[in-house]
Amino acid sequence: MNSNRKTVIAGNWKMNKTPKEAEALLREVLPAADGAACEVVVCVPYVDLPVACNVAGGSNVKVGAQNVHFKPSGAYTGEISAAMLQELGVSYVVVGHSERREYFAETDATVALKIAATLDAGITPILCVGESLAEREQGIMAERIRTQIKIDLAGVAAADMGKVVIAYEPIWAIGTGKTATSEQAQEVCKLIRDTLCELFGADAAQGVSILYGGSMNAKNAAELLAQPDIDGGLIGGASLKAEDFGKIIAAAN
Ligand code: PEP
Repeated sequence: MNSNRKTVIAGNWKMNKTPKEAEALLREVLPAADGAACEVVVCVPYVDLPVACNVAGGSNVKVGAQNVHFKPSGAYTGEISAAMLQELGVSYVVVGHSERREYFAETDATVALKIAATLDAGITPILCVGESLAEREQGIMAERIRTQIKIDLAGVAAADMGKVVIAYEPIWAIGTGKTATSEQAQEVCKLIRDTLCELFGADAAQGVSILYGGSMNAKNAAELLAQPDIDGGLIGGASLKAEDFGKIIAAAN
């Protein structure tokens, strides 16, 4: 972590928790986040957003969505626009999560459009990038990450990069219990920052919070968060247990 950048601890609840269950979990998370020095975010299913925004209102917990459509409105059955999220009080949106890329055919081109729509609405995108195990084993991890960063952020001005959060999520570490070592995670987060430096300049690159995601938990968080280019975590499984999520928040403080 670097004290000049915002530390962000974001939970990704994925397709878990009904609105009633979401309210109960969030009420358990609030005390753990009370007084936290880092930014605490919960990215909840669409239907949980109204209750989450309501319950988190006035607290230091920010609410995020897990997806957004890139068009402002129109005949896109089943989709949700950035303006709809903004009206609810949503502050963050996860964009380009590997599960969306894998199961819902999300491409770097649509991710780039979603980043633009999100920024236009004044919402902070959490852009997810990461390589598969096969790509790592073939020695093309760096190429893959750099390509994602270049295409996904192609439409963003350097002056807006401070409004973007990036999450490095090796696909092989998501939901597998297999965490990247702190050295592996630092190496790729630094690669991301170096790529941002090439694209947007050193000042912009230094200001971007880069999170690690992939089986981060109460035990391994402190070591990962101690790395100089890791500015927080995107946490799936462990964010569904208030006690574990609270321990990760404490490790970030
Ligand atoms: C995620 O889905 O973004 C994630 C990191 O999940 P998990 O922590 O369960 O690996």
